[in-house]
Amino acid sequence: MALIVQKFGGSSVADAESIKRVAKRIVDTRRAGNDVVVAVSAMGDTTDELLDLAAQVAPIPAPRELDMLLSSGERISMALLAMAIHSMGYEARSFTGSQAGMITTADHGSARIVDVTPVRLREALDDGAVVIVAGFQGFNRDTRDITTLGRGGSDTTAVALAAALNADVCEIYSDVDGIFTADPRVVPLARKLDTVTAEEMLELAANGAKVLYIRAVEYARRHGVLIHARSSFSSNDGTYVLGEGMTDPRTSKESGMSDVIGMEEPVVTGVAHDLSQAKITVVGVPDVPGSAAAIFTLVAKTGANIDMIVQNVQSASPGRTDISFTLPKQSAPEVLRALTADQESIGYESLVHDDQIGKLSVVGAGMRTHSGVSVTLFEALSQAGINIEMISTSEIRISVVVRGDDINEAARAVHSAYGLDSEIEATVYAGTGR
Ligand code: ASP
Ligand code: MG
Repeated sequence: MALIVQKFGGSSVADAESIKRVAKRIVDTRRAGNDVVVAVSAMGDTTDELLDLAAQVAPIPAPRELDMLLSSGERISMALLAMAIHSMGYEARSFTGSQAGMITTADHGSARIVDVTPVRLREALDDGAVVIVAGFQGFNRDTRDITTLGRGGSDTTAVALAAALNADVCEIYSDVDGIFTADPRVVPLARKLDTVTAEEMLELAANGAKVLYIRAVEYARRHGVLIHARSSFSSNDGTYVLGEGMTDPRTSKESGMSDVIGMEEPVVTGVAHDLSQAKITVVGVPDVPGSAAAIFTLVAKTGANIDMIVQNVQSASPGRTDISFTLPKQSAPEVLRALTADQESIGYESLVHDDQIGKLSVVGAGMRTHSGVSVTLFEALSQAGINIEMISTSEIRISVVVRGDDINEAARAVHSAYGLDSEIEATVYAGTGR
């Protein structure tokens, strides 16, 4: 008998019909002789609606109360799911994050899991019940308050439960059939991957892929949890995310090993795009030691997460240079404020804020051993008439910044250029990607 953790996102439990459909899938898994633990998200867009409500009563809602509010979304879906399972003649018990022993740090809105003590879950499993746990929420021992894990946190809940209960697999259900070579909503010819390495998945998630949350993948890699990303709208096999030393349970092969001996895996595994970043250019910075340090010390103080940085050799005025960097859109206002306040001491000429950019990244472990990978990317964009504004690379990734309006076309062109196009269009079942 296996222990299977299943996570269902908001789009999989959007209404009563969907909840019944998910309940049936859970019951099928249980009936096949498995112990089942489920982590569930709030129904549909509930979390967004609750955030809207909060904004209507307070410009800056108190973080503690916001977590109280948001955690209610998952309580609704967990209870309904348990009821639906009951009416199919099976035992099910729902638990809040704190009842499930999800112990977190005290940071409201972005708490991290520090311990999982699933005593009550084990009892329920021993009683033969299906266990349903509210995703996205936890409890801090010092403040004795409810916390939430940050948007998309139910993935992390599921992986943490799988680790704590030593589950055989953590199935993460969404409205697409698994991890694709690109977002199938943007690149219809995207291809489903059978496996992806955790390392590649982390790069894809960090660069805009929304199908799995980065913190969940990190947690899984650290704790050796096998993730199976698949659709709740079909019974198709999905994508296995393989950490160090893990093998594809269907074939017992490690990721990256090809069926045909001597045949190599494609160098590029996937294409990710991201419209959530903005670009700030500090124009006319004195080209002397210490300028970059001064700028980025200020930026760091705001807590903004900087991604790409480009310094031009020389700007229009002699002895000066331009420094551009990208950061999350919502961090830009504070960074602009901080830089403006210190304009005189840094000695730059002006600031340019651009929130109409898009970032396109190609990711593949094969880049370590192949040269010339970037040429294909640059050529594809040039043929599509798309201008590149910034370029950055890591060991297994190349990213470029282009106009936001060009991002969809860029993704399709690059996907095709790396030979990733499938013959048939990918199926998207619901439309949110979660
Ligand atoms: N309901 C939360 C959100 O929408 C958590 C999740 O869906 O994973 O972010
Ligand atoms: Mg959600």
